[in-house]
Amino acid sequence: MKVKIVYNNEIHLFKQSNPTLQGIRQHIQKIYPNIDSNFTLAYNDSENDQITLSCQEDLQVLIDEGTPTIKVFVLTSKKPQEFPQGKMVHKRHTCDGCYTYPIVGSRFKCLECHNYDLCEVCQAKGLHNNHKFFKISTQEELEQFRKEHWGKFGHWGHGGCGFHRGGPHGPHGQHGPHGHHGPFGHETFKQIREFFQDPAFKEIKQTVCTIAKDTFSVIKTELEKHKNSKQEEQKQYECNTNDVQETQQEIQQEPQQEIQQEIQQEIQQETISQQNDCKIQEEFEEKVKGLIQVLQCDEKVAREYVECFKGFPLDEIVDMLLEKQ
Ligand SMILES: [Zn+2]
Ligand SMILES: [Zn+2]
Repeated sequence: MKVKIVYNNEIHLFKQSNPTLQGIRQHIQKIYPNIDSNFTLAYNDSENDQITLSCQEDLQVLIDEGTPTIKVFVLTSKKPQEFPQGKMVHKRHTCDGCYTYPIVGSRFKCLECHNYDLCEVCQAKGLHNNHKFFKISTQEELEQFRKEHWGKFGHWGHGGCGFHRGGPHGPHGQHGPHGHHGPFGHETFKQIREFFQDPAFKEIKQTVCTIAKDTFSVIKTELEKHKNSKQEEQKQYECNTNDVQETQQEIQQEPQQEIQQEIQQEIQQETISQQNDCKIQEEFEEKVKGLIQVLQCDEKVAREYVECFKGFPLDEIVDMLLEKQ
């Protein structure tokens, strides 16, 4: 079991497998050699009541419950007259803001929480100001509070006051304030616990669930819409892509067509030129034949003449040769 020792704004932690009250006391005296040996030990139970640890049986309750960590407050005795005259001492109450015990002067009792009290200082600081408080600073106010609000908290119905539940121990005297230890996150934890216990929470939970359900269905619908529109876009994109591909094919086909056309043109031109060549050849042969007939010469000589006067018609070639002769 871990034991946290809270004293004079300090917390000491030590471990004892089978803690004894005597062992804890000895440990405290070791840490604080000058401490008044009449100090009292106490802890806050789950209902935030301060329980005095005056004998081993008191501690045994915690050991039997299997409490992993126990926070022990070291309370040094102070004489009652040390409290300011005329101020009410709330012997059973620790301030939930600064953990001062007991609350002296005005005690501010939260009317909404099961067990939440503040001292004057913490109330003035505005702690827990989201809830209404009942100010108790006189016996009359305490009576009034009991008359108006007692029993309002159903779970207060435990027998007795929960104080000294380890058995009768006699009065433990009044303890001076044991110093401010600052918040331990205790308040937050307590608020959360109270919030979960609150019947209103059930209602809130249902409302939240309904809202969440609605929100999820809206989100789902929106997601589906989004998905559909994406699919539509994808389709559109694919269509466009096809168009683009077709265009690309066309673009690619175009030069091919051009090339083919050019080739065809070339072929045609070649054919024409070949045809022309044939024609020229035919004409050449005709000229050669004609020249042989007119001049009565060799074919070889006739070819040479025709070759020599290429481009001239046959009759002109004949005239030129006859003149020459
Ligand atoms: Zn306080
Ligand atoms: Zn409250």
